Amino acid sequence: SISDKLDRAFKVLKGHGQITEVNVAETLKEVRRALLDADVNFKVAKTFTDTVKEKALGQNVLTSVTPGQLLIKITKDELTKLMGGDATDINISGNPSVVLMSGLQGSGKTTFSGKLANFLKKKKGKKPLLVACDVYRPAAIDQLHVVGEQVGVEVYSNKEQKDPVKIAQEGIEFAKKQGLNMVIIDTAGRLAVDEKMMNEIAEIKNAINPQEVLFVVDSMTGQDAVNTAKAFNSRLNFDGVVLTKLDGDTRGGAALSIRKVVDKPIKFIGTGEKMDALDVFYPERMADRILGMGDVVSLVERAQEQYDAEKVRKLQKKIAKNQFNFEDFMDHIQQIKKMGSVKDLMGMIPGMGKAMKNMDIDDDAFKGVEAIIQSMTVQERVQPELINSSRKKRIASGSGTTIQEVNRLIKQFEETRKMMRMMSNKKNMMGMMNQFK
Ligand code: GDP
Ligand code: MG
Repeated sequence: SISDKLDRAFKVLKGHGQITEVNVAETLKEVRRALLDADVNFKVAKTFTDTVKEKALGQNVLTSVTPGQLLIKITKDELTKLMGGDATDINISGNPSVVLMSGLQGSGKTTFSGKLANFLKKKKGKKPLLVACDVYRPAAIDQLHVVGEQVGVEVYSNKEQKDPVKIAQEGIEFAKKQGLNMVIIDTAGRLAVDEKMMNEIAEIKNAINPQEVLFVVDSMTGQDAVNTAKAFNSRLNFDGVVLTKLDGDTRGGAALSIRKVVDKPIKFIGTGEKMDALDVFYPERMADRILGMGDVVSLVERAQEQYDAEKVRKLQKKIAKNQFNFEDFMDHIQQIKKMGSVKDLMGMIPGMGKAMKNMDIDDDAFKGVEAIIQSMTVQERVQPELINSSRKKRIASGSGTTIQEVNRLIKQFEETRKMMRMMSNKKNMMGMMNQFK
């Protein structure tokens, strides 16, 4: 029956007015979960979602789609910002330019040294030399030779020399003699942070004064990665971070935590064991990856165009001033109808699915409502209080409905208006709640 349809239409509208706070909270819960799943440190995740919430609520929008989209945009922008905004290059200005690797054993230093040599040779036209300073395991030196061969880059090593500082210095001399303009120094790591390792790498750094000290860390080590980064940074004051083993669906939340904790840019990521599995680190892409959103973000952005933000702002002003009328109501219905396809998109966003399910977007639900409103004069729409019983009779017959249905619409419209107004003003809401204490 038409009254059922009216009920549903109003439910949609009411749900619509309510959605801001509910969805912000719900979506952010999901965002926080996604961050924790992606190994972001709990404190960082909490601070982050609090910031997003503050920003989102400051936007003060009323409709469901716009807050959802805004929320995603704010979330993504904040994440991107947190991870440094733009990509940060490594310094290769020296001649030769020296890069020193640091990090725990197994983090991927030797592999990354090869990848970086390959990258600098192919993409930057450099002539690199790899230097083997891991003096503790002969196999480590052999490994660097294998890697060097794979990428066609010369490797300097000296199995007789047990002092890594000396090998590093010899390597640089060797590069100068050979006319090589990049020196990549691979070092020994330990399984855990210890003083001896820290002293050794610090000594190398002091002796050769490299243009760039990179800290290499396995992104799968999660929270430990953050503590390791802290320890290395306090000792070495490194210039950048390399996140390795970010292949497959490793989410890389460590990127966020490390950036936040040591405040150094992430410069590269390793995405596989092969020599070409290196990517320059782009904060925005990592933000997408951490949120697991992929294309959804661009889909939502496209959908955003469908809802006119300016209109929402005006509508909200009207609601606050209690000037919301049937004209606006009609407009609102048109907007909601346009969102039919948006609903599907929104369902893909973490946390939005459930909220959207309760929003029954159904063109049919509005038919009776639209007919009644269309039968009103403009004056009546703008000033609903004009609608007396003789006007109601005319509207009913004009719209093919009954006086009861017209009454019902007006009554529900008024209730909705009251509710919308209350919700647009949080102070009122609090006041109302305090009355019940
Ligand atoms: P090091 O001890 O720091 O020199 O670490 P290695 O370079 O020897 O790497 C340790 C292991 O991690 C090796 O088996 C590498 O093949 C592997 N590895 C390094 N980087 C990556 C990466 O980006 N992705 C994957 N899947 N494996 C990697
Ligand atoms: Mg190694």
